[in-house]
Amino acid sequence: MQECLFCRIVRGEIPAAKVYEDDEVLAFKDIHPQRPVHVLVIPKHHITSLAHASEADVPVLGRMLAVAHRIAADQGSPNGFRSIINTGPVGGQEVMHVHMHIVGGQEPVGPMLRRI
Ligand code: AMP
Ligand code: ZN
Repeated sequence: MQECLFCRIVRGEIPAAKVYEDDEVLAFKDIHPQRPVHVLVIPKHHITSLAHASEADVPVLGRMLAVAHRIAADQGSPNGFRSIINTGPVGGQEVMHVHMHIVGGQEPVGPMLRRI
């Protein structure tokens, strides 16, 4: 996965505003924030999408959820946040490396989905 954007961020080949890291996951600020707090949490090893996740990925996917509140609180969203994982074309996934958006701030994020 030489060309995967987020793998390149993990390898330090592309700069990112890192806010959290452990042996399994990395979190960095979204380059186009949609709320005052907007962080992406990714597995350090490449998983294309949730549609490609396997049983072996269960620990890292669990860790992404387990660290979310700490990251949100550290970044200025201590009273909750929204976590979003877009999958595939129907989900609107643009970067094909699993990532969980953490969005928040002082104000409520808003309705879960815009009405269509
Ligand atoms: P998604 O539509 O769920 O695939 O979201 C992809 C997200 O990645 C978008 O919110 C982009 O703003 C974000 N993004 C793309 N490139 C970068 C980058 N180099 N650093 C940080 N965030 C990025
Ligand atoms: Zn990747």
